[in-house]
Amino acid sequence: MPETLNRAIPLECLHVQQHVWDYLDGRLPSQETASLQLHMAECSECHDYSNFQQRFLQALASLRARGRAPWHLKARVADLLASDGYSPG
Ligand SMILES: [Zn+2]
Repeated sequence: MPETLNRAIPLECLHVQQHVWDYLDGRLPSQETASLQLHMAECSECHDYSNFQQRFLQALASLRARGRAPWHLKARVADLLASDGYSPG
C-alpha cells in the first residue's frame, strides 16, 4: 500500500472512487449503481467526491458544446483537480 496518504481509505470508498466515472456515465450494472448510491448516501466524502466528478463532467461537456475552452476555465478545472489531489499526467 502506498504511504503517501495521511490516512487509510476504506475499501468501500476506494471502490466508489474507482467506479464513479462509470457510475456517472450510467455504465454500471444496476446492482453496482445501487451499492454505490447506498454508500454515497451514508459517506459524505464519497458523496462530495461524486458531486465533484459530476461537476467536472458537466464542465467538460459545456466546453465541448462551446467548441473551444477559454484558458481561464481550463486553469480553473486544473486547479479544482489539483485541490482534489490530482496532478496532470
Ligand atoms: Zn466513502
